[in-house]
Amino acid sequence: MSFSIYERFGVRPIINAAGPLTRLGGAPLAPEVAAAMAEAAGTCARIDELQEAAGRYLAEVTGAEAGYVTAGAAAGLTLAAAACMAGLDVAAMDRLPDAAGLRHEIIVQRPHLTAYTHALRVAGARLIEVGYLGYPGQGATWPWQIESAITQRTAAIAYAVCDAPGSVPLPEVARVAHRHGLPVIVDAAAALPPADNLRRFVAQGADLVAFSGGKAIGGPQASGILVGRRDLIESVALQHQDMDVHPETWPWRDRYLATGVLAGPPHHGIGRGMKVGREEIVGLLVALRRFVASDHRAAGERQRAQLETILDALGDTPGVRAGFAPHADDHRGYPVLVVRLDEAVLGRPAETIVSELLEGEPAIGVSQQFLRERAIGVVASTLHPGEEAVVARRLREVLRPRTAPP
Ligand SMILES: *Cc1c(COP(=O)(O)O)cnc(C)c1O
Repeated sequence: MSFSIYERFGVRPIINAAGPLTRLGGAPLAPEVAAAMAEAAGTCARIDELQEAAGRYLAEVTGAEAGYVTAGAAAGLTLAAAACMAGLDVAAMDRLPDAAGLRHEIIVQRPHLTAYTHALRVAGARLIEVGYLGYPGQGATWPWQIESAITQRTAAIAYAVCDAPGSVPLPEVARVAHRHGLPVIVDAAAALPPADNLRRFVAQGADLVAFSGGKAIGGPQASGILVGRRDLIESVALQHQDMDVHPETWPWRDRYLATGVLAGPPHHGIGRGMKVGREEIVGLLVALRRFVASDHRAAGERQRAQLETILDALGDTPGVRAGFAPHADDHRGYPVLVVRLDEAVLGRPAETIVSELLEGEPAIGVSQQFLRERAIGVVASTLHPGEEAVVARRLREVLRPRTAPP
């Protein structure tokens, strides 16, 4: 393989043993996905048509009424919040993120607060937090806490698919929301595999669900999926696409202007800065087709075999104890090798080792999700076949005791 495009710009390629992380460039794309993007790159197409075609496929795959390709799950959450606040009100679309006078509060259970809930606020929404986090207690959140936070200002209820013991499950959140005519926005960015999850949250009552395109699906890094209720996806499209047109030439004039649904085209909405190119739309669709057709169990076994090569190579390294992460109740369907470090033996903290791997030659990115346990994680879903041998060799080089500073 050639990395010459990076070298032309003076940038070193990395071996990604961390999974599809945004800051490491995501995952390598399958040749079929890259080829689809290259083909789309050569010819223009109307984005409204492409998005509608994509939406039909996304609806079919997820069981939702409608779907849309976003610039990632975070953009999907921002657009979802905007749709719940503005609906099909063109003047409201024009005002966001100034949400004064609109229903603009989004209720979130505290155990579901993540760095990504910021994406909901980007559209102008205000988060209303409910529930408890601390010990002692029987749990974190109760349905009545969600219900009692609902007011005339509530636009939606947010739900994150994550490890949050004690939180109110999605079907129950949806029942509370729907009793009050409110939509539920689900952050399912990283909840794949299993592939069943493409349908699960819609089936459980979610009104909008955001997935990352650039994680397990294997689509372009700047792509994502938003699926859900037809009227909300319509609002998303209206706030996302470039509609800098004359009303008389707007392709959607019959649908929205002749019917009196909108007073005029909405022009540049809150989503305009999160635009999606034709390459991403096509790349995402091809990747999703591959994802739903692929044998995830076999893929997991291939990754496990790669990680076993690394595990074997580390076998007798002093100060190092490696093993597979348990995946008991974990929604993540891929194997992770956890390499526990005895910092006293190795003579430096785990953080230094992560940096040595990323800054050395070849550059290797490893997962930091176990750093609090003084361990580094190795993930094979983003490794090319054969790269496990390079990672194993480099880990053996770096994981040597060091007594004096270099
Ligand atoms: C990765 C992630 C996101 C953001 O997804 P992008 O597709 O990178 O925008 C949002 N929420 C959660 C829980 C994630 O893991």
